[in-house]
Amino acid sequence: MFNLVMFGPPGAGKGTQSLRIAQRFQLKHISTGDILREEVRRESLCGKLARDYMDKGMLVPDEILVNILRQVVEENRYVNGFVFDGFPRTLVQAEELDQMLEREKLMIKLVLELEVNEDELVNRLVKRATDQGRSDDKPEVIRRRLETYHNQTEPLLHYFRNQGKLVTVHGVGTIDHISDMLYREIEKFHP
Ligand code: ADP
Repeated sequence: MFNLVMFGPPGAGKGTQSLRIAQRFQLKHISTGDILREEVRRESLCGKLARDYMDKGMLVPDEILVNILRQVVEENRYVNGFVFDGFPRTLVQAEELDQMLEREKLMIKLVLELEVNEDELVNRLVKRATDQGRSDDKPEVIRRRLETYHNQTEPLLHYFRNQGKLVTVHGVGTIDHISDMLYREIEKFHP
């Protein structure tokens, strides 16, 4: 199995690029944002708990995320690999994911970071707010999500760098061009 993590701030294009990568390399795309939004829509217990955090631009507690991930990994034993999109976002999540995969004799091979400057991120998120009407794309929530990223998620870059798994790709340009750069990095590991 070939497992990779797409990493980067909100608005970096993780979702778009993850979907393309999953299609091209026949991997299973796992977006924790999408899973949580679906739980909110279904009004499940987990969705009810998650909603307040999401609407404030805060991270949903690790315990909820770890449970979701455990289920997803268990339900997809026979896939070629996973593209994790929006997970892990904290050190606890990263360590749990490593342990979870290790128990199945699996591992994360590669972490692709999409690097995008702050002004561009805000522009994209504001535009997405108008196009898609996501309830967490309001200006004050956008600011909070970026702060949450810098405070709680960005420090994970050290963790991945220490593991020798981190590759950073510039995330500004055409979607096709960025995909090509990402594909090239993946093909070094997964021809
Ligand atoms: P974005 O990357 O644009 O913030 P996502 O769709 O990935 O959007 O996530 C939306 C929200 O879902 C986050 O702001 C957060 O509240 C919650 N969320 C998603 N993934 C995680 C995670 N791994 N840990 C904690 N909260 C998460």
